[in-house]
Parts: sequence; structure tokens; C-alpha cells
Amino acid sequence: MAGEPQADCLFCKIIAKEIPATVVRETETTLAFRDINPQAPTHVLVIPKVHYADAATLAAADPQITADLLREAGEVAAGDEVDGTGYRIVFNTGSGAGQTVFHAHAHVLGGRGLNWPPG
Ligand code: AMP
Ligand code: ZN
Repeated sequence: MAGEPQADCLFCKIIAKEIPATVVRETETTLAFRDINPQAPTHVLVIPKVHYADAATLAAADPQITADLLREAGEVAAGDEVDGTGYRIVFNTGSGAGQTVFHAHAHVLGGRGLNWPPG
């Protein structure tokens, strides 16, 4: 069924606590944890607890949880005190754009200079 946990999904396993993660925040619908290979002093992933392959698919299926995800990304930035200097929320979508885990996730990046446009 749409949104159900997938047995072969790394992030579903983190939600199920089968794989450990450094959790920063948790809500009824979302989980935020530090990226295992950080690209900035703040690099946190915010994921929905439901499984959808990417952000746009999640948004089409569940606008409320998508809003929860974005709100939590902002809370993560505030918690790490990078909201003042600025931060970036990234949704890599598709393997050509660098998506490697096909469970929707927001990267929250901050704490260093962020070039625009990104590579
Ligand atoms: P993406 O390449 O946009 O799909 O992002 C996937 C992210 O998940 C990468 O930045 C990885 O470093 C990160 N990642 C992979 N495995 C783990 C893990 N076990 N715990 C935390 N982050 C992870
Ligand atoms: Zn999943």
C-alpha cells in the first residue's frame, strides 16, 4: 500500500530502529537525524515516517506531512542555530541529481558558506 514501510529501504529501517542514527528531533510524522557523511557543520536529514520515493511524490500523496517535513527542517536549523546565517534545504530527486536513498528526505545544510548555484 502507498506509504507503507519497505523492507529493503534504509530509512524505513532507521525509523524502525533496526539501524542506529543520531536523532535530532522526532514528531508523530517525521524523524530528523544527522547525515552519516556530513557535507557541512550542520547536515541533518529530515524524513517522513511514511515511505514515498521522493519529495514530489510525498507532496502529491500527503500535503500535510510534506508541510510537517518543511516545518521540522526549519526547527532543525533553529536548533543548530544556523537560521541566523542562513541554511539550505535540498531534495535530491532522481539518481542523476545524486539521490541514492529512495525514501523522501530533506537535507538541511548550514554552518558554512553555501555557494549558489550548487554543483
Ligand atoms: P541522497 O544522496 O540525497 O539520496 O541522500 C542520502 C543521504 O543519506 C546521503 O547524504 C548519505 O550520506 C546519507 N546516509 C546514508 N546512510 C546513512 C545512515 N545510515 N545514517 C545517516 N545518513 C545516512
Ligand atoms: Zn522507506
